[in-house]
Amino acid sequence: MTTVIKEAEFIESVADALQFISYYHPVDFIQAVNQAYEREANPAAKDAMAQILINSRMCAMGHRPICQDTGIVTVFVTVGMDVQWETTQSLTDMVNEGVRRAYNNPDNVLRASILEDPDGARKNTGDNTPAVIHYNIVPGNEVDVHVAAKGGGSEAKTKFAMLNPSDSVVDWVLDMVPKMGAGWCPPGMLGIGIGGTAEKAMLLAKEALLDPVDIQDLQARGADNRSEELRLELYDKVNRLGIGAQGLGGLTTVLDVKVKDYPTHAANKAVAIIPNCAATRHAHFTLKGEGPALQTPPSLDDWPEISWEVSDTVRRVNLDQVTADDVKSWQPGDTILLSGKMLTGRDAAHKKMVDMLAKGEELPVDLTGRFIYYVGPVDPVRDEVVGPAGPTTATRMDKFTRTMLEQTGLLGMIGKAERGPTAIEAIRDNESVYLMAVGGAAYLVAQAIKSAKVLGFPELGMEAIYEFDVKDMPVTVAVDSKGESVHQTGPQEWRAKIEEGVVTVS
Ligand code: SF4
Repeated sequence: MTTVIKEAEFIESVADALQFISYYHPVDFIQAVNQAYEREANPAAKDAMAQILINSRMCAMGHRPICQDTGIVTVFVTVGMDVQWETTQSLTDMVNEGVRRAYNNPDNVLRASILEDPDGARKNTGDNTPAVIHYNIVPGNEVDVHVAAKGGGSEAKTKFAMLNPSDSVVDWVLDMVPKMGAGWCPPGMLGIGIGGTAEKAMLLAKEALLDPVDIQDLQARGADNRSEELRLELYDKVNRLGIGAQGLGGLTTVLDVKVKDYPTHAANKAVAIIPNCAATRHAHFTLKGEGPALQTPPSLDDWPEISWEVSDTVRRVNLDQVTADDVKSWQPGDTILLSGKMLTGRDAAHKKMVDMLAKGEELPVDLTGRFIYYVGPVDPVRDEVVGPAGPTTATRMDKFTRTMLEQTGLLGMIGKAERGPTAIEAIRDNESVYLMAVGGAAYLVAQAIKSAKVLGFPELGMEAIYEFDVKDMPVTVAVDSKGESVHQTGPQEWRAKIEEGVVTVS
């Protein structure tokens, strides 16, 4: 029997799903993070997961984005061959209209992160379109849709290889995961696609991330096929690497590992890894010609009520008075509560500043003695000072770090995840410091921001230079003035503890 699906109901369903996933984590994901939080033995990793869980509950209550990066929309549409459409638009145009409406919703404006002309002008399209859409045509009279909003930080850590048929997938994954660093905001999931062709393996990896977290069920019932054997082996072995939440070292790096495979050519073994981050966001709906399919809000009882305790030993720092000598006394792993004024800037602002310095031009902002926070916030709504404003991946700024420290008088940086060797050397040579905030705790971080104003490059939108006035913003010393990095020492220490049997992964 033919089903008629109207344009308006399709668009409304897409827009509703995207709004929903911007502020509700999937319940299975929250429960998995909570279990990892409860069994974590490394206080720093436990603290990071506490912030992720508190942030998640706040977003569920406040209907504001889990992360400042509200993602690139990826949609899997499965269309029954007996479906008839009542529309003048293409299905692609309808998906994009749903994206447009969701991201411009005045009650919960989402960050537009999509740039056209990616190797040229990199101009923001303004409404987060276009989505990346995959279609499948099947027998039947329903339309089945999976919607995801994928963070750029985790997408950037994607890995692909065309292995020899005799090569070990497990060995390759265990080689790749440490190289992914912490920019994908673990704990999260790994989607692994094996077989087909190069692009098919990638697609399988992305599709695998749509499944719920259920590794404990698989552990209980045992594997039925090769994909499930790989899931169990990789879940155990990846967690035994000791990378931990936010790369700080610890017992849980992955909450689940998903594997999908497909027949392949005798000469090939394509393998792809795509990680999903602390801002795991996906929803599913089916249209049967009975009106829009709207998401059902979860119960807040599904979220643990965790409070974040500030110990008496936490260092409080006034950014308006901090000196180069103060910075030198900060130890790797110290928790610091920042108050006072900081600047912001990320990729585009750094590129502009470094280009201006090369031409001998004056910068729009004096950075002497200041801290810069790598962030691209969501626009505020209602009485907000700023929307969710968590850190972005710091390694992207590594190539600018020496110039910034040596030519502007910048004192320190705040961002997400590890720094690479060039940035660490520049920090050590200049006795600077790098502080990390928790990626995926963006709404929580925004509560610490008491005022925000644009000081430079307003044309860059969310990438402009702002000045934030913050009160008690929690950060951790991730690279100290001597160049010691907690993202190197933490995973080493926890991997050794796991290998020695001092602690056990689940
Ligand atoms: S949680 Fe991390 S990787 Fe995910 S969207 Fe946010 S900043 Fe990006």
